[in-house]
Amino acid sequence: MLLVGWTIAWFVSLVLTPIVARTKHRSGLAWFLLALLLGILATILVALIPPGVDPRLRPCPRCAELIEPKANKCRYCASDIEPLAVIPRW
Ligand SMILES: [Zn+2]
Repeated sequence: MLLVGWTIAWFVSLVLTPIVARTKHRSGLAWFLLALLLGILATILVALIPPGVDPRLRPCPRCAELIEPKANKCRYCASDIEPLAVIPRW
């Protein structure tokens, strides 16, 4: 019975770990492979690590805080900045 429980936990970690990783802007594939090796331990690890940098954001040229590419005013330092052209993702 214990083996069945661990197998279920392992399958749950295979599904859950990449989802949590993607919400934290981390590699879903890399964390899936880690979940293959570590099982539920990978799920615990990905829950504990700090979120990665959102690749859709860019640093403010004045204060270096991460802001939206199409922003024309920084929400951190309130300086006026040139918005970048946003290429839509399909
Ligand atoms: Zn700024």
